[in-house]
Amino acid sequence: MRTGIGTDTHSFGTERGLHLAGLSWPDETALTGHSDGDVAAHAVCDALFSAAGLGDLGSNFGTDWPDWAGASGAALLAETAARVRAAGFDIANVAVQVIGNRPKLGPRRAEAEKAMSAAVGAPVSVSATTTDGLGLTGRGEGLAAIATALLTAP
Ligand code: MG
Repeated sequence: MRTGIGTDTHSFGTERGLHLAGLSWPDETALTGHSDGDVAAHAVCDALFSAAGLGDLGSNFGTDWPDWAGASGAALLAETAARVRAAGFDIANVAVQVIGNRPKLGPRRAEAEKAMSAAVGAPVSVSATTTDGLGLTGRGEGLAAIATALLTAP
């Protein structure tokens, strides 16, 4: 078994249309980024690459890979999972926690877990927390996420 860890942070932009945890949030402020800014999806990708020893999101899909500019979180998750499996691993489970004030994830947690699990092809649990008003997420400047992944090698 191998574990991996990943984090991601993006700042809020000025437009509506957030992408978070594999879901669209049309009434929430969008995050900026090289792709759709889905911090939860990106943290999970990094955790999966970390566990497999395949580098990170930047080395796989970063600015050197313009084909992935604007890619959806779900597309990145699916491609990451495919690369991890191609390297000989099975994905046991993934956990991701979103850190920030808005949106409130609780009412859509099940939907987010369903979307992210479908993209990864393994169980993804989604949780959320705030930072008591401290730091960039506490000030409402952006969102962060932290994720772990567990892989098994046959
Ligand atoms: Mg990112």
